[in-house]
Amino acid sequence: MALNLSKSRAVVVVGGGFAGLTTAFSLSHCQPRPPIILIEPRSRFVFLPLLYELLSGELRTWEVAPTYQSLLSDRGIVLVEDSASKIDTNSQYVITDSGLTIEYAQAVLATGSQSNDFGVVGVQEYAHRFQALEDVWLLKKKIQLLNTSNEKNKSFVIVGAGATGVELACKLSDLLESDIQIHLIELGDRLLPKGRSFNQEQVELALVQRGVSVHLRTRVVEIKKDCVELEKLDDEAPDNFALAHSVLLWTAGTKPVLPDLLPEKLLGGNRLPIDEHLHVRGFQNVLALGDAACNVDNPCASTAQVAMQQGHAAAKILMALRLGENPQPFEFRDAGEMLSLGVGAASITGLGLTVAGPLAFQIRRIAYLTRMPALSLGLRSAGAWLLGT
Ligand SMILES: Cc1cc2nc3c(=O)[nH]c(=O)nc-3n(C[C@H](O)[C@H](O)[C@H](O)COP(=O)(O)OP(=O)(O)OC[C@H]3O[C@@H](n4cnc5c(N)ncnc54)[C@H](O)[C@@H]3O)c2cc1C
Repeated sequence: MALNLSKSRAVVVVGGGFAGLTTAFSLSHCQPRPPIILIEPRSRFVFLPLLYELLSGELRTWEVAPTYQSLLSDRGIVLVEDSASKIDTNSQYVITDSGLTIEYAQAVLATGSQSNDFGVVGVQEYAHRFQALEDVWLLKKKIQLLNTSNEKNKSFVIVGAGATGVELACKLSDLLESDIQIHLIELGDRLLPKGRSFNQEQVELALVQRGVSVHLRTRVVEIKKDCVELEKLDDEAPDNFALAHSVLLWTAGTKPVLPDLLPEKLLGGNRLPIDEHLHVRGFQNVLALGDAACNVDNPCASTAQVAMQQGHAAAKILMALRLGENPQPFEFRDAGEMLSLGVGAASITGLGLTVAGPLAFQIRRIAYLTRMPALSLGLRSAGAWLLGT
């Protein structure tokens, strides 16, 4: 594998989420440490798996979303608070929204993903998301309003019964007054379609216990201001019906967030194709990680676990190339799956553990909090054991 280092010696990491921040931190521990520039528009890193606990008040903002300033002080990482709009791979520049041109020797693209509306009418106008701190504040307000309103037949509709949808349904059920009906809509024929069977069973149980109304094999046709039109796919003749909603949450899938990669080719809204060394296929000196990238020969899920492991691997690959050595290919080590299932409850399958309920809640909370980048290495090692990072 050839490497042309440009005049700049810097590694420029674009995006400071799980993949990008892990890369930058790992590089900052390497010797000789390369110049590291991190481009990230937000002021806070958000530990997304703990957003549910922020919603419920079980954790506070500083625990779930520390500022980059606090995370990066004394690490020798230069933070550029900006968005990358273009990566010019011919001249090896990253160009930002505010017009900065930053030269790189090696670039790491880790810009993550955003909600995908799959072209369904009404999602942009009437659906809420759950991917950012602002979404949590808005949802908190909605919950408060709904709990205190005198409206009749109040209902909360969640579209998508993947991990985010089922976790939110359980948490919301514990936060909403009992007269508010929660509906969970899923196109597929089972809850948590990609989940482990133990966790699927625990999810089913948790939803039944909370009286959540589950609609499987049901397609969203259109979302309107106060109702959602649906098509039930079960019957020989599909059945159309509508559900009223006081609030509708869309958790039906994601698509990558990507700056332009010049000269433009191969993108088309898909995850960036990468090889086993995390290089974007066809582009020299550009790696891509996390939700933004996919190796079609060995695909990984869009998870924080994958993103963090790729971040560690990327640092090793970059250092090997800089030292003229052969890098090891990235291999994902599956450390299992942890789900939040309501206030004070969770379900875990992984690393020899199969546990649900309050104990699982405590283990999940410790495992995630100890993975928070701001924590000491000693504390983090406990979480690493659980997360395999
Ligand atoms: C509510 C929720 C719960 C989740 N729970 C779990 C879980 O329990 N376990 C699990 O493994 N995974 C979980 N995930 C998925 C996991 O969070 C993602 O897979 C992970 O964040 C992907 O990491 P990433 O670094 O690719 O992207 P992100 O962590 O999203 O980071 C991308 C970063 O890039 C920045 N960025 C975007 N565009 C630009 C640009 N143009 N220039 C510069 N910066 C840019 C963004 O501001 C962001 O900080 C959850 C996700 C959500 C939304």
